[in-house]
Amino acid sequence: MPAEHVAQRIDGVAIAAAIRDEVARDVALLRERGVVPGLTVVLVGDDAASAVYVANKEKSSKAAGMASETIRLPSTTSQAELLALVERLNADESVHGILVQMPLPSQIDADVVIRHIAPEKDVDGFHPVNVGKLLIGHTDGFMPCTPSGVIEMLVRSGVETRGAEAVIVGRSNIVGKPMAAMLVQSRAGGDATVTICHSRSRDLHAHTRRADILIVAAGKAEMIHGDHIKPGATVIDVGMNRVADSTRASGSRLCGDVHFASAERVAGRITPVPGGVGPMTIAMLLRNTVRSAQRVADASGR
Ligand code: NDP
Repeated sequence: MPAEHVAQRIDGVAIAAAIRDEVARDVALLRERGVVPGLTVVLVGDDAASAVYVANKEKSSKAAGMASETIRLPSTTSQAELLALVERLNADESVHGILVQMPLPSQIDADVVIRHIAPEKDVDGFHPVNVGKLLIGHTDGFMPCTPSGVIEMLVRSGVETRGAEAVIVGRSNIVGKPMAAMLVQSRAGGDATVTICHSRSRDLHAHTRRADILIVAAGKAEMIHGDHIKPGATVIDVGMNRVADSTRASGSRLCGDVHFASAERVAGRITPVPGGVGPMTIAMLLRNTVRSAQRVADASGR
């Protein structure tokens, strides 16, 4: 790469806005058919970051014309109480999407709660039925929002996934594993040769350096530098880390898992943090909810 090379930025804000516009159009069409897509978010406790995420979800779904409700429960809520609420929402025909915000207080087992949500309303895509459908390649389930947002970014930016070496750093159930399952499918945005790395991987950088598409979701601030990247590669930074920064009035700044300044000198395309993957997650949540409502409308012949 010449010294002056700078990677093209993949603009998550613009791509997410385009998806939200498409969702708003679909919501308007559904309203004409007498169906108002409804998303209910359940927030247990008073985790500050969760409160911000939930407020953003409510604001965005309302802006798209959906019926949105946030149910706030105290941190002392028992598992039985939460399961009873989920059952009520499962049975409520006006609710097309249910999202229980994580993390949950320690007296509640998140896996039990996720398994309780009706798979056809699980717009987070975490229920084992939806995870299984994703792996098999069935498209009638829901795919987790962050990795499906990454696929949208790749496709809409014209990044060729077919035959590409895709390397993912991170194997969580919400990002790394579903990301791999999507990239390996034989369809648009798939057909990649996929490697998943994690904290036990031997010689991590030998893997990252041969990636045509490098997706980093490790939660480790700026762990991937320019010299860990193949020249011309597409780099997708999922990480969101708050680090101390005395030059900022707030005393901190948000950064990704990729050291942006060195990476943009080597990569062909790169997502910034903030303004990259982050905005895509909510856009995909809205899209999943509108799809759920479309399925209900189609099934009822409306
Ligand atoms: P987890 O902590 O659940 O998973 C992190 C993964 O990274 C683990 O598999 C871990 O390996 C691996 N890992 C950690 N350190 C290293 C290392 N040094 N080398 C190789 N692998 C490593 O995180 P999440 O998947 O939930 O999130 C990842 C990041 O993405 C976070 O910064 C999070 O804030 C962000 N995020 C952003 C979203 C968005 O909307 N933009 C949404 C979701 C997450 P092991 O399994 O061996 O421990």
